[in-house]
Amino acid sequence: MPVDSVEWAAYTIPTDGPEADGTLAWDSTTMVVVHVRGAGQTGLGWTYAPAAAGHLIGELLAGPVTGLPEWDVPAANTAMARAVRNAGRDGVAAAAISAVDVALWDLKARLLGVRLARLLGQVRDAVPIYDSGGFTTWSDGRLDEWLAARTSPRVKIKIGESWGTRVRRDLGRIARTRRAVGDDVELYVDANGGYTAAQAIRVAAEFPDVRWFEEPVSSDDLDGLRRGRDAVTADVTAGEYGYDLPYFARMAGVVDCLQADVTRCGGITGWLRVAALAAGHHLQVSGHCAPALHVDAATAVPNLRHLEYFHDHARIESMLFDGVTGVSDGGVLRPDTSAPGHGLTFRTADAEKYRR
Ligand SMILES: [Mg+2]
Repeated sequence: MPVDSVEWAAYTIPTDGPEADGTLAWDSTTMVVVHVRGAGQTGLGWTYAPAAAGHLIGELLAGPVTGLPEWDVPAANTAMARAVRNAGRDGVAAAAISAVDVALWDLKARLLGVRLARLLGQVRDAVPIYDSGGFTTWSDGRLDEWLAARTSPRVKIKIGESWGTRVRRDLGRIARTRRAVGDDVELYVDANGGYTAAQAIRVAAEFPDVRWFEEPVSSDDLDGLRRGRDAVTADVTAGEYGYDLPYFARMAGVVDCLQADVTRCGGITGWLRVAALAAGHHLQVSGHCAPALHVDAATAVPNLRHLEYFHDHARIESMLFDGVTGVSDGGVLRPDTSAPGHGLTFRTADAEKYRR
């Protein structure tokens, strides 16, 4: 049976306060939601990307995907990648492809009446997450409040404030976080590329026990990532801006853990390939943001480290989707294997006020 239709809509959801990391500030999140239909069933996917990703789906992707056999998701993924050759595959186009790919995997699993995790084949039934937020714009009180509500024994805050120009405040917030969570919680930091390589190495020398140092320098600075990885105690990690396999192949040689985002790297199809590439480099993979969309694929990957339980996305997923897997004791997600597909449905009526 062929795919009958590919439809999209974009929504912009205000954050629950002003947010910033080392190199960007924002007050809303835009999401492009995709529904694919075939054989009387509907599959759901989405990406956190500008509405342009939706327009690109309508203009370049819906045509090549419609009419393809709904079982053959990799064929649709390949057709989409070829269709955007002249538009440029990275960035918005890859996000658009990712949303459609996730919807197609959901459709296939629903047609078979199985949980997506089961369709992919599980190596685990519980997926570790880490709490991610700790924005540079938050007051000490807001940070404390968020830390007190954490759901896992792992927590990540943003540093590198104002392009690495507020190092004393960064170090103060790290120390405050360590005091708040105690000695038994893994503490992670993310500079979002705010430091230079030499600066990042000097700053890390003043860290308390920090386990994970994400994007100490720009992800475009592979030599800087390698220098940081070789010099600091924390694991140096990156990969959230990866859109295709050659990018991850280059990055695998310079980090301790490869991050990949299912809403950017080609959907479920792309994410599983990145995980295999990481395994080939003796690396673990960690899912970037969008926890509800990663959990099924994460159960299928032997070399998984964890998923990022990002404040903005966890909030949006709980507001606008039914069937979201809650965090269980110990900071893990246990997907309900009795729910077909990825188990998620979009609350269209609740989302209408955010529609663009
Ligand atoms: Mg990051």
